[in-house]
Amino acid sequence: MPIYVYQSIDINHGCDHCKNSFEVLQSFSDVTNECPQCHAPVHKLIQKTGMRVGKKHLLSDQSLKKHGFSKIVNEGDGKFRQI
Ligand SMILES: [Zn+2]
Repeated sequence: MPIYVYQSIDINHGCDHCKNSFEVLQSFSDVTNECPQCHAPVHKLIQKTGMRVGKKHLLSDQSLKKHGFSKIVNEGDGKFRQI
């Protein structure tokens, strides 16, 4: 089963456990809506580690473009740039 990371929705509510995010081993269909320790509402975080590609060059800008993908880079402050 995959491991999912959850974090408190509202940083002003919750305990140290859910404010700093915690991991749950569960199946895809299982959903955790609250912190197991303080019961504050939590949401699932999207993990970057889910992408496992053996050959890094496949994700290069040139390779992505060649295969019809575009890449969007987060430049901070809510701004994104398409490469
Ligand atoms: Zn908590």
